[in-house]
Amino acid sequence: MRRNVREGDCLTRILVTGGAGFLGAHLCERLLDMGNHVTCLDNLHTGARQNIAGFLANPRFEFVEHSVIDAFDGYFDEIYNLACPASPQHYQRDPVYTFKTSVIGTLNMLELAKRRGAKLLQASTSEIYGDPLVHPQKENYWGNVNTMGVRSCYDEGKRGAETLVSDFHRFHGVNTRIVRIFNTYGPGMNPEDGRVVSNFIIQALTGNDITIYGDGSQTRSFCYRDDLVEGIIGLMNAPDHVTFPINIGNPVEITVRKLAETVLAMIPSKSRIDFRPLPEDDPMQRCPDVSRAREYLGWEPKVPLQEGLGNTIEYFRQIIASRSIPSVPKTA
Ligand code: NAD
Ligand code: UDP
Repeated sequence: MRRNVREGDCLTRILVTGGAGFLGAHLCERLLDMGNHVTCLDNLHTGARQNIAGFLANPRFEFVEHSVIDAFDGYFDEIYNLACPASPQHYQRDPVYTFKTSVIGTLNMLELAKRRGAKLLQASTSEIYGDPLVHPQKENYWGNVNTMGVRSCYDEGKRGAETLVSDFHRFHGVNTRIVRIFNTYGPGMNPEDGRVVSNFIIQALTGNDITIYGDGSQTRSFCYRDDLVEGIIGLMNAPDHVTFPINIGNPVEITVRKLAETVLAMIPSKSRIDFRPLPEDDPMQRCPDVSRAREYLGWEPKVPLQEGLGNTIEYFRQIIASRSIPSVPKTA
């Protein structure tokens, strides 16, 4: 398939795969604001047309409904490869699909980058560290990952994608970037994807019990959407030698239990805490070391958790008012 942006067009021609998802849609918005031509390629597996509805009238925006698992062609200067279901509930629903999206999808995007001389940024993840034995996680830590568990389709798929990106850089000279994204939240999250921030907020707003998996002592570090997007745009535009992975996340670590208490303190609610079994291979701790992002991108997260949660609560409040969400998925 070939798209209608032509070689010689003077705007920066950017392809965002997964552009109709939570992070992708915000990335498209920022790239359009910066004056670029943006093609969003997405098969709407977990994304939604509604997320990009506001850009469809923009002549510098184009939406292509297509899966990265199938070959794709077009003239692009930059490719942000975000296509992949990201929440455990979604990526475990069809694990073979998830793995194919990560590995075959990334291979297709790398072939495209090589063919058209485009720069490619790969959305990797903190999951490549698995259940880490080193804390906080630096990029030179190789991880502690189960190859055969329920999370492996995602973790190993993303690790395989990093391998492909590195080999296309080394052997084919493709200009590449790898961002390892740590848990990110904010307005635009899919209310049905079962992530902890969206679940807790929706549960508190609807008066349902807050489902803590395990005893809540596991930790995560939550980065606000806008900080994350600024970080990945900064990485795409970093000098060409920055081809090594860079963590982008907020290094303020918090237990899941503390997150539940924080949400309950911000939302007057009759919800109580309901402890559920901890899912298989759920990492016990996760916190990024962001010294590389500081050094090479001059990047620092700016939005504190309380402020980011406030914006996210407001977003879900409006969704609940308009859509009447009765509850959130309850299975651990
Ligand atoms: P999301 O599920 O909201 O977005 C993923 C998008 O990819 C969706 O629009 C989906 O329809 C699309 N997609 C899925 N399979 C596809 C395919 N085969 N072809 C084309 N499009 C496809 O998730 P998100 O949170 O926006 O995550 C975006 C990227 O960032 C993912 O690659 C994810 O692994 C990575 N990431 C996100 C987080 C986070 O906390 N949000 C953390 C680490 C990594
Ligand atoms: N979690 C939880 N209750 C929920 C959803 C998630 O206690 O309703 C926990 C989950 O077990 C994990 C953490 O919160 O320890 C983060 O889960 P999420 O799915 O958001 O992301 P990930 O596990 O991929 O970091």
